[in-house]
Amino acid sequence: DLADIGVTGLAVMGRNLARNLARHGYAVAVHNRSAGRTDELVKEFGGEGTFLPAHEMAAFVASLKRPRRAIIMVKAGAGTDAVIEELAELMEPGDMIVDGGNAHFADTRRREAALREKGIHFVGTGISGGEEGALNGPSIMPGGSKESWAALGPILQDIAATVDGVPCAVHVGPDGAGHFVKMVHNGIEYSDMQLIAESYDLLRQALGATPAELAQVFREWNAGELESYLIEITAEVLDQVDAATGKPFVDVVVDQAEQKGTGRWTVQSALDLGVPVTGIAEATFARALSGHPEQRAAARTLEGPDISGVGERQLVEDVRQALLASKIVAYAQGFDQIAAASKEYGWDVDLGAMATIWRGGCIIRARFLDRIRAAYDADPALSTLLAAPDFSAVVNAAQDAWRRVVKTAVEIGVPTPGFSSALAYYDGLRRERLPAALVQGLRDYFGAHTYHRVDREGSFHTDWSGDRRERPA
Ligand code: NDP
Repeated sequence: DLADIGVTGLAVMGRNLARNLARHGYAVAVHNRSAGRTDELVKEFGGEGTFLPAHEMAAFVASLKRPRRAIIMVKAGAGTDAVIEELAELMEPGDMIVDGGNAHFADTRRREAALREKGIHFVGTGISGGEEGALNGPSIMPGGSKESWAALGPILQDIAATVDGVPCAVHVGPDGAGHFVKMVHNGIEYSDMQLIAESYDLLRQALGATPAELAQVFREWNAGELESYLIEITAEVLDQVDAATGKPFVDVVVDQAEQKGTGRWTVQSALDLGVPVTGIAEATFARALSGHPEQRAAARTLEGPDISGVGERQLVEDVRQALLASKIVAYAQGFDQIAAASKEYGWDVDLGAMATIWRGGCIIRARFLDRIRAAYDADPALSTLLAAPDFSAVVNAAQDAWRRVVKTAVEIGVPTPGFSSALAYYDGLRRERLPAALVQGLRDYFGAHTYHRVDREGSFHTDWSGDRRERPA
């Protein structure tokens, strides 16, 4: 007997997807580069349905009904290309290759075009819901041809999550459309988590509330119109107590949020398209900010607001100071970007010299640039311009005015995204602890993405769906 569909790549996602298919009555061919995973799957879960294990790709393809349907669930990137090449050699016109990994939509477009030449349907498919979703019903976002959807749609709708009887799987559009939509989904996920983290942070700082008290707040919010998976698991992550220290879990997690790149892809694409996805961009950059401990250590001396003595001041003078401070932030960020590119491409750019050549002839020529040159002369290894004594003195002196300006703008409904995001950057960089620790907790909860601890070396994972004990990852 032949298999209805095949899955190659049997790590957490592929294994669970294969089990989901088998549980729905499909005969599933299973294959993995290293045969151990294939045998393990059949040994552990063979009783759940019909699996046709294959150790070689040729045997895997030979075990599929025509037209053949094979789902690839391997590490995105070069691994996907290698597996596609192997599969395509063995397949015939009319067969379908589904890539369920997190591919960049541009790669999917390239792969689709190449396989179309051979008459093979390539179906780049976004799959969301983590390992739990793959097993019990993910959200599925397939691209590719209409013909491939006709052959795959019923199966994908069968194994997808359903809400009110409606399956969470539709044909998104041709070639890279499915992966594009999955990418934006992930970008929105970044933004959701950042907003949750900011809410938690603001309440914790302003009210002095404990994580457990805030867990209760999120639980109450989840009973109303904010009801959502992320709000729900936020309550659980905030409630978690670290067994080793007795401290709130979120306080023992290193507050540097990681990313696998889909937020970045979304912002890059948005820049290409000219679409202002500012929420996603701010979320992506907030993670990037949290991941620069050297800069954050250097910025620790920057001062916070003097909430006691807010006096009468001229708005004009306040705005002048806000403008100056925001400008310093913009230059600090721009110089960081040049430094990063210089490192990435081996350019060895002299940052101080850049300030020098911009002093005249160009649009941004300004007196101010002399001070940047001086800052880099004084310390060529300067971690952030904001921490250079000259500039930190200026932003420290300006920050109360800066805050009043943003506050006033908010109160009178004038958008000042430049001032407010610059101020948020300043406040983020100088913070001792960032809520990136909670983002890490959420990522570990739904994606087993692991985290580092403040007090021990290594990577850790808490068994959220089991005994909630922590294990080294
Ligand atoms: P991983 O991303 O950890 O990838 C491991 C799998 O890829 C193994 O089966 C491995 O084979 C295989 N592999 C890697 N390189 C190659 C190669 N060159 N040739 C053949 N096989 C290779 O697995 P996951 O299950 O976590 O994810 C699978 C895909 O699903 C990824 O693209 C991921 O981005 C995506 N995804 C993951 C989600 C998650 O929550 N984890 C959610 C949604 C999508 P071997 O066993 O031989 O090493």
